[in-house]
Amino acid sequence: MIGNRMIARNLIHNPKLRNFLLKIFGQKNFFWKLITPLLKAQKVMKGDCIFCKIVRGEINSKKVYENEKIVAFHDINPQAPIHILVIPKKHIEKIIDISDSEEDKEILYEIIKACKIIADQMKISERGFRIVVNTNPEGGQTVYHLHFHLLGGRQMRWPPG
Ligand code: AMP
Ligand code: ZN
Repeated sequence: MIGNRMIARNLIHNPKLRNFLLKIFGQKNFFWKLITPLLKAQKVMKGDCIFCKIVRGEINSKKVYENEKIVAFHDINPQAPIHILVIPKKHIEKIIDISDSEEDKEILYEIIKACKIIADQMKISERGFRIVVNTNPEGGQTVYHLHFHLLGGRQMRWPPG
């Protein structure tokens, strides 16, 4: 049982192992399609989501902005001189899970507004910045709690790779 839990944890937390298994099994593999949502559900049910822990203050983060609906903090592994994550306090797995509810509409608005405020604060509005939302495995999503990357402070390249 403990061994199974360890494997499940590794599958979720270790991107290298996850990508390695994805390469072996292929994303269309039935087993993978079946097991991934189960592992994610198990993780959320256990209150294991790393960004929910940040919201609750159980994991330290360098916060730059917060209001009733959202929180923004420095990415632990910055990909640019300025790399901020803006997340809803509510656990939403990914952008395609946003619903038509007033609550979710307000959350999206607050996230975009926060990006604008933070970009102004960090003086990158005029120079320019990039907002990225990686979604699902091919989109490069590794944390399944919706987050907007706000990147700036250097010239961005295209295509993003
Ligand atoms: P993504 O790969 O698009 O799902 O982005 C997840 C991001 O979360 C990565 O850029 C990680 O560096 C970042 N990250 C993971 N754990 C933490 C943490 N505890 N504090 C801040 N950023 C984190
Ligand atoms: Zn969460």
